Amino acid sequence: MKILVTGGAGYIGSVVVSELLKMGDEVIVFDNLSQGHREAVHPDAVFIHADLADRAAVDDALHTHKPEAIMHFASNTLVGESVEKPFLYLGDNVRNALNLLESAVEHGVRRFILSSTANLFDDPEEIPIKAEERIVPGSPYGESKFIIERLLHWMDRLYGLRYAALRYFNACGAAHEDLGEQHDPETHLIPLVLQVALGQREKIVIFGDDYPTPDGTCIRDYIHVVDLAQAHILALRALEHGSRTYNLGNGRGFSVKEVIETARRVTGHPIPAQIGPRRPGDPAVLIASSEKIKQELGWQPQYPDLEQIIATAWAWHQKHPDGYAA
Ligand code: UDP
Repeated sequence: MKILVTGGAGYIGSVVVSELLKMGDEVIVFDNLSQGHREAVHPDAVFIHADLADRAAVDDALHTHKPEAIMHFASNTLVGESVEKPFLYLGDNVRNALNLLESAVEHGVRRFILSSTANLFDDPEEIPIKAEERIVPGSPYGESKFIIERLLHWMDRLYGLRYAALRYFNACGAAHEDLGEQHDPETHLIPLVLQVALGQREKIVIFGDDYPTPDGTCIRDYIHVVDLAQAHILALRALEHGSRTYNLGNGRGFSVKEVIETARRVTGHPIPAQIGPRRPGDPAVLIASSEKIKQELGWQPQYPDLEQIIATAWAWHQKHPDGYAA
């Protein structure tokens, strides 16, 4: 299949691109490199350096390459930032998705995969969080993804655009030692902890140890990026049977302290940690239930083990201590 991947130079997108190419699909990457890295784009993919805000560039990409499907990763993705800069999310994220959707409809694209978020579930009635959980976006970021999910609902009803929305939280790990996680600035726990192990930071600050969890620190669902990529690809193949929405997680949660402890074992570095105040907006526990995608598509995480996840991230960080070159 011919697939256009927005954000294909980013952390999750680049891994999906590499997995799609392995399976014999043709891939066109559309990325403005604001957060992605040219070096992360597989050499066998066509690369378009352009912005989704530029509707003419989007039209040109779809007209020239005529993809059968779109996978949409390109987005502002930080919960904290979205509270400070809501229009970057409720504005740009939504406008860019609208450009893409309008162009997709005009060019006859019938399949769409959305990288959504578990930030739709700010007040879950049940943990692990099932696909049917009521939607309570936790931030402008979550709201922007929910709006895009609703746009997709109408594109399906009115134009037959089949879509899958995949909602997940803590993507982590590296696909192999050349495709890993690098954000600027880095805010995510695992890469920060590994930067301490590399000697690039003095210590990790734990954002609160007074949560109602067994060790007092927040529990999150860390899902390996290759498992995420496989879920996107399975969902794409299933679209001929209709649109769908799934929650995606590892099946179990790990606390901040467990992550740090595991990283100490994997790296052999003491990784000094200090307790700091809570980070605003952090819920105590977030764990997704992936039962629906397991049952419907037979998806199974291949890297559920935290030690293995951190080991793959560590291999990438050791090989790329200064991150991607470009
Ligand atoms: N965290 C922390 N110190 C840091 C960064 C993160 O204690 O320097 C905690 C954060 O409060 C959360 C967990 O680690 O409970 C995962 O945070 P991250 O930013 O990686 O992902 P998020 O859960 O926000 O998507």
